Amino acid sequence: MALLNSAGWSAVEDPSEADLIIVNSCAFIESAKRESINAVLTWRTQYPRAKILLAGCLAQRYAAELSLSLPEADGLFGNTALEGIAAAASALLPDSPGGGEPPPSLQTLAGLPLPPPSGGSAPKPPGTRPLLSPPGSAYVKISEGCDNRCSFCAIPLIRGSLRSRTPADVVAECRALLGRGVRELCLIGQDIASFGDDRPGEGGLPALLEAIAAIPGHFWVRLLYLHPDRLPLSVPQIMVADRRFLPYFDIPLQHASGPLLRAMNRRGDGERYLNLVRTIRSALPDAVIRSTFLVGFPGETEEDFERLLDFQEQAALDWAGCFTYSREEHTPAYTMKNRVPRSLAAKRKRIVEERQQGISEGRMERFVGREYEVLIEEPFRKPEDGAGGLYLGRTYCQAPEVDGVSLVQSETELVPGDLIQCRVRGRAGFDLRLEPIPKLR
Ligand code: SF4
Repeated sequence: MALLNSAGWSAVEDPSEADLIIVNSCAFIESAKRESINAVLTWRTQYPRAKILLAGCLAQRYAAELSLSLPEADGLFGNTALEGIAAAASALLPDSPGGGEPPPSLQTLAGLPLPPPSGGSAPKPPGTRPLLSPPGSAYVKISEGCDNRCSFCAIPLIRGSLRSRTPADVVAECRALLGRGVRELCLIGQDIASFGDDRPGEGGLPALLEAIAAIPGHFWVRLLYLHPDRLPLSVPQIMVADRRFLPYFDIPLQHASGPLLRAMNRRGDGERYLNLVRTIRSALPDAVIRSTFLVGFPGETEEDFERLLDFQEQAALDWAGCFTYSREEHTPAYTMKNRVPRSLAAKRKRIVEERQQGISEGRMERFVGREYEVLIEEPFRKPEDGAGGLYLGRTYCQAPEVDGVSLVQSETELVPGDLIQCRVRGRAGFDLRLEPIPKLR
């Protein structure tokens, strides 16, 4: 968006006014691919006048196939060579700003592959980008690609090998975002625990966190997506030393059966992962841990699944999502034998989710009666509307969009993007009910 803006394009709220609709797609698993294609078909039907550019990972992964089978898209633009986005947009609309030669990263002709995703440089944010995240919060992508090569995962094929930004580059972006009023920096990458593995001698994730810690001021730093086998054990200590680093751990464990994890090209097992959970909680008793589990991986037996359920019970993680295995071509798991029937995988997913609901609700109880900062996101009902003001926000235990929310009752107006001190009055399912603590004069 920053590149398009600087080339003279501007975004409109109403799609019927758009000359060009860019669908930024996902290709991680089957359901995401379906959703991306449906988006193109829906926009095509609803806005026949607009050109449609299918961009991102689906376009990157299936450029040749899609250019033949998806005529509803006027062009394809992958997830690499992003600097060509404005030229690609202009090539679809010759009367638009900055028209010229179409870049090689635009695919309009059948059968040509897009440039591969593993280009050598780390992603660098292009200038001042519009923030699409909730008020007060911003994602900071610290690395691109992944070298972990989990056997079920297509991401290394789509996004390429790990390329980490330099700590100085990340810190400069963090400073700029804080200068724009951002209060929560969410560090992301395919696996941020591996940050810097491609830049030996620079200290990896701990060094980056220390560099961010040197930035003055009050703000939150949230770490999202830490591979459990790679999490540096100094990270909890950094959180103890500087409370701006939220004690929130997003660690996709995937499973608890050692043999199955090995087949996934992961190193852990239930016991090791329980130890990791204990280590985190002994350093940070208030730590909140989120994970994801993958069921229905080839070869998953009833015994493996029981191990996962035992682990789930013992670990009592605050949050956990569950996915069924998606068979992705060109991944090592694609040819694995003993595939689990879809219906059985779906049943296992349901069991994990139902159990997690009770666990997560129980875990939320411990917050009741205590005080926390809340990042206000939006008014649900303004105080002047009569029935009492109600705002949606998040405490440290709730990452954007994936966890429950904080419901803040307030008779005075609250400003989205502000951090305010609140007391937790109760719980409604996964969500917390809070009230602001009046400031002492
Ligand atoms: S760590 Fe994550 S992104 Fe990397 S290969 Fe494994 S599942 Fe895929």
